[in-house]
Amino acid sequence: ATPTAILVGTGKGAQLGILIKGGAALEQAHKLTTVVLDKTGTVTEGKPALTNLTAFALPEDDILRLIAAVEALSEHPLAAAIVGAAKARGLTIPPAEAFEAVPGRGVRAQVEGQVVLIGNQAFLAEQGIATDATHTEAERLATEGKTPIFVAVSGTLAAVLAVADPIKPTSQDAIARLKRLGLEVVLLTGDNKKTAEAVAAQVGITRVVAEVLPEGKVAELKRLQGMGQIVGMVGDGINDAPALAQADIGIAIGTGTDVAIEASDITLIKGDLQGVVNAIALSKATMTTIK
Ligand code: ADP
Ligand code: MG
Repeated sequence: ATPTAILVGTGKGAQLGILIKGGAALEQAHKLTTVVLDKTGTVTEGKPALTNLTAFALPEDDILRLIAAVEALSEHPLAAAIVGAAKARGLTIPPAEAFEAVPGRGVRAQVEGQVVLIGNQAFLAEQGIATDATHTEAERLATEGKTPIFVAVSGTLAAVLAVADPIKPTSQDAIARLKRLGLEVVLLTGDNKKTAEAVAAQVGITRVVAEVLPEGKVAELKRLQGMGQIVGMVGDGINDAPALAQADIGIAIGTGTDVAIEASDITLIKGDLQGVVNAIALSKATMTTIK
């Protein structure tokens, strides 16, 4: 496309809330063959709420105080849901020490002299804590599209909770439009497989790659690219940044983290997946109307 066409296209994009860095992304977007979507904050709102809490040894509010103390130091969207729930119950959140976050896994810290671990099944297993007793409940929560979270206090399984994140109202339609354009759509997430499949089913995605660590997201993109796919990746989180950079076109959700935006070629200001379809249409128009 001519420099004028690129300028016009970029300007139109800006009016639609699609910020395009440089002419190359605008020229290439119509060539995409696969669109990979992060789940939390991309397909879903990224504003999860605590929906279930089963406490074992301690009363519910006591366990929730300990969990909130740890999550108050985490930046994960799941953490905000837990802290919000504790505050809504009027609980006083104690201070936590020696906080540590393990990306794609969970968090740990010391609260009132006890070691508190919060995360997925793999995280607790790595710390030698069996979650078998809660297997049935965790499966049920996941098939409802909720994310089960396990908690251990002083080396003993203490609670199972679930957090659910509503799907953005436009996700299903945008995904249907991408598929009508002939694109493959893949859901890529660090979340539980069952949870991811439940969310995917609700928005019409059949290809799901779940329980991946941040490095795993890059590996999956490389695998698709190795098969000759031209891949667009849409994401919002710090953990998506390497994959956004690896993609042929990285697309950040504007309400997401700065790191994701910096790693991307395109930013969708409204964070609505219709922006992906619009960016592709804009690219097509730029490359066909003015040669
Ligand atoms: P996503 O790709 O959906 O954004 P992440 O890679 O950030 O997911 O996290 C993967 C999983 O690790 C979460 O679904 C959760 O089970 C666990 N996890 C990560 N951080 C936390 C946290 N602060 N509290 C509880 N669980 C967490
Ligand atoms: Mg995310």
